[in-house]
Amino acid sequence: MGAKPGEVFVHRNIANVVNTLDMSSTAVIQYAVEHLKVKHIIVCGHYNCGGVKAAMTPQDLGLLNPWLRNIRDVYRLHQTELDSIEDESKRYDRLVELNVQEQCINVIKMACVQERYILEEQPIVHGWVFDLRTGKIIDLEIDFEKTLKDIQKIYNLTGSDWVMSRKTK
Ligand SMILES: [Zn+2]
Repeated sequence: MGAKPGEVFVHRNIANVVNTLDMSSTAVIQYAVEHLKVKHIIVCGHYNCGGVKAAMTPQDLGLLNPWLRNIRDVYRLHQTELDSIEDESKRYDRLVELNVQEQCINVIKMACVQERYILEEQPIVHGWVFDLRTGKIIDLEIDFEKTLKDIQKIYNLTGSDWVMSRKTK
């Protein structure tokens, strides 16, 4: 990324999952948004992700089951598209991308993100995939404002329709 030490505040977990019940990732995001005043939040996944692979495999992984279920839920949400991809490695790559996209949505669902965006028009949420085969980062070009507007129909935690009304004017 070409960033200097301390410029990026990082949280890592298996398969870049942002789950509302996970205190670690949600505390990290809230701290970054409210105290560090980050301008950008990047959910970065990677191809060849062992966590995503495991979620595509029928097996009992014990303690990992509830964690990987987040990714199985992403598969279910996008089952029609994924099942139509015959090549298994391409389907696996696509699930990595869709998982990043869904985790971006989970970040945007958070009250701290919605509330600060209303006041300051930031942070912006981005979805990236790191391709270990080429060393390159692929920007999935998540349309942040459209996603925010769409999810606010259900997940508006701000007590305000300001974002939605501003964008429709
Ligand atoms: Zn991984």
